[in-house]
Formats: sequence, C-alpha cells, structure tokens
Amino acid sequence: DTTDPLHSVETHESAVRSYSRDFPVTFATAKDAVMRTRAGDAYIDFFAGAGALNYGHNNALLKRALIDYLEGDNVTHSLDLVTEARARFLQRFHDIVLAPRGMDYRVMFPGPTGTNCVEAALKIARKVTGRRPIVSFTNAYHGMTLGALAATGNRGKRGGAGTALPDVVFAPLDGALGAGVDTLDHLEAMLANTSSGVDLPAAAIVETVQGEGGVHPASMGWLQRLQRICRAHGMLLIVDDVQAGCGRTGTFFSFEPAGLDPDLICLSKSIGGYGTPLALTLIKPEHDVFAPGEHNGTFRGHNPAFVTGAAALEAYWRDDAFERGVRAKAEIVRERLEAIAARHPGLKPSVRGRGLMQGLVLDVPGAAEAVSHAAFARGLILETAGARDEVAKLLPPLTIDEATLSKGLDILADAVAAVAR
Ligand code: PMP
Repeated sequence: DTTDPLHSVETHESAVRSYSRDFPVTFATAKDAVMRTRAGDAYIDFFAGAGALNYGHNNALLKRALIDYLEGDNVTHSLDLVTEARARFLQRFHDIVLAPRGMDYRVMFPGPTGTNCVEAALKIARKVTGRRPIVSFTNAYHGMTLGALAATGNRGKRGGAGTALPDVVFAPLDGALGAGVDTLDHLEAMLANTSSGVDLPAAAIVETVQGEGGVHPASMGWLQRLQRICRAHGMLLIVDDVQAGCGRTGTFFSFEPAGLDPDLICLSKSIGGYGTPLALTLIKPEHDVFAPGEHNGTFRGHNPAFVTGAAALEAYWRDDAFERGVRAKAEIVRERLEAIAARHPGLKPSVRGRGLMQGLVLDVPGAAEAVSHAAFARGLILETAGARDEVAKLLPPLTIDEATLSKGLDILADAVAAVAR
C-alpha cells in the first residue's frame, strides 16, 4: 500500500539522527542477506547491523528456537534470576566455545550492548591492578558510554564529552607510523621511562581488527608482542571482540590465530545471534573481583537473546565447517576487492582486513562515501568507516550464499566504476 505513510521516510525520520539519512528507504522485511521495502525493492546487506547479524536476518534456525521459546510461555525477562534459557546458553558457551579451545573464563553479563562489556572490562582491570590508566590505540572504537568513549580514538566521536577518564593513553596502532616501524617500540619506551608522564596502566584494550576505525588489522606478531608487554608491566590485556568476534574474521575469537590469552574479552553484537541484544565480558578466574551489586543493569542477559545465542552456537560452532566456509567466502571477497582496486588507480585504492571484515580504502576525499551512496542506489547496503571516512567497509552476514555475495560484489564494482568516472 503506497499510500501508507510508513512507505516513505517523510514521516518523522527527519527528527532521528541515524544512518537513515544515507539510506533513505523504509525497510519492511529482511531475510538472510537481503532487506526489502514493502514495495519489494531488495537491498543486499553488506552492513549486517554493524556485525550484529553474522547469521543473517531472520535466520530460520534461530527463529524456530525463538518462536518455540515464546510459544512455551518461557521466561522472557527475569533480571538476574537463573532461567533455563540462561543455563542452556552458559552450558553451550562453555561446551562449544570455551572448553574445546582450552579457555577458562568466568562469564559476566554486564548490560545489553557492546559498550557495556567494555565498561565492565575497564572497571575490572582497574580494580584488579589498583591502577587507573588504560592504554588504547589510535583509531580505536570501543563504544559511546563515558569510559568506552574515553578509549575511543576518534576526536569527532568524543565530541563535546571530551576525554571522560583522564587516564587513557593512546599508543600508535600497528601500521600507524608507516611501513617498517614497530609501533610497540613507542609504547614500550613510554612504559619503561619513568619520566614519560605515563603512570603504569591497568590494561591495554585492543581490537585485533579495528572496525569503525577503518578496518585496520594488527599483525599476529604485533598482537603477541603487545601481550608480552602487558605481562611484563603487570597490565591486563583486554581484547574487544565486539565486532571482530563470533566468527567474523574466520575463527570464533579474532585472536585465535595469534594464540593470545587475554585477561578479559568483550563480546557482543552477534553473540545474541538474531539481532537480540546481548553482551559478555569474559573474565579470567583470577580477575573475578566484582562483589555482588558492583555492576548492575536491568537488561543484562536477556532471555530471548540467550535462546537465539545458544541456538547459533549449536547450529554453527559444533565443528569447523562454518569457519572454513567463512574463510572460503573471505577469499572470494578479497580477490574481487583486489581486482576492483586494480581497475581504478585514480581512487588511490587499497584493500585491508581479515576474514569477512574487509575494507576497500579509497584515499580520495569523499570517494568512499560516494561509493556507499552509489551502491545503495543500485541495491547494496554498505557503510563507510575510518578517521576520514575513507573506507568502504564490507561486513556481509557470514551465512550469505555465494550467489548473493557475488551479486553484492558486482554492485560494488559498478558503484566504484561510477564514482571513478
Ligand atoms: N567495541 C567495538 C569494537 C565496536 O565495534 C562497537 C560497536 N560498533 C562497540 C564496542 C560498542 O558496541 P555497542 O554499539 O553495542 O555499544
């Protein structure tokens, strides 16, 4: 019904500050990797809820689990009470994710969304070490609440809030000082020099592949050295796997290929599986220092998210077939992006990323945003990222079929060609 006011974004959307400005369409339904308007216009989704929809929209397996749960009048909200849904999620998380990887962590549900698990990790690190400063890295993105925001490198995102915690020290990320420079030399020198102005930090927090910061992957050697530096200086290592985790880079945790052993791990976005909000802070048992009541929140650990989250672990993570599929699709994406880049040297292109978290960097002002708009006009949802919005970021659902993936990449190729013209 095109007379329905919901058909057009003229309604009250102009009052909302969001991506809808860039993507001026009212979506009605979504299935797997495709979103549709009521009129039936289809858009391939390479944004996937900023990584919250690794298993696609309305994934049939997860939907069945959720419907069965609701139809059984099972508990939807219980605050911190133990429910079957919660027990099952915890058991699956232990049996499918932690135990096979030899990982021993306490699980905390610090709130509904990513920034909450970062806040909890920062607080725990400070309480465990009795120190205040936190080391973060250039271009980092950890969330929008005051603590996580303080550890977010982007001045624009910090906006008028300024630096919330006075004690965040930014060190250069791997690659930030050009090829051939090991940026951890800088951090190590700052820590070793008692006159550097840096008090010994409680922790370093890192994304192994920065998402919002512009799809910057750190090398495995750099990550391993960061862990050694943390250990040497009595700092905890926090890996923020909110965006890069849950299989996005080709393994469940993004740090697995580096063999890291983080003190604290932040997980959110796709851990609920269905766009259902859920956040986890994983805590090494020796760091489990919160007393009851020290970190509360009404929507911590929401039961529908436990149900879909457990179903996702059962469906995709019992063996390595899914991970191998992700890595195979990542190869396809990488090859296609390299080919697109090679065709348009005028856009100063390069490609970076890991797994199905890839960025097409266009080092010409406005080019990535123009590509995002051109792609949307052709039926592809694609966000930009990076300090100067210089990166077209590809985050397709991990479950995307190869035909849809290929079609999305064709649209991207057309969009880049249109912008290059
Ligand atoms: N950490 C990382 C690495 C993220 O990408 C994000 C969200 N983009 C967050 C934390 C914050 O998550 P949320 O938006 O759910 O608060």
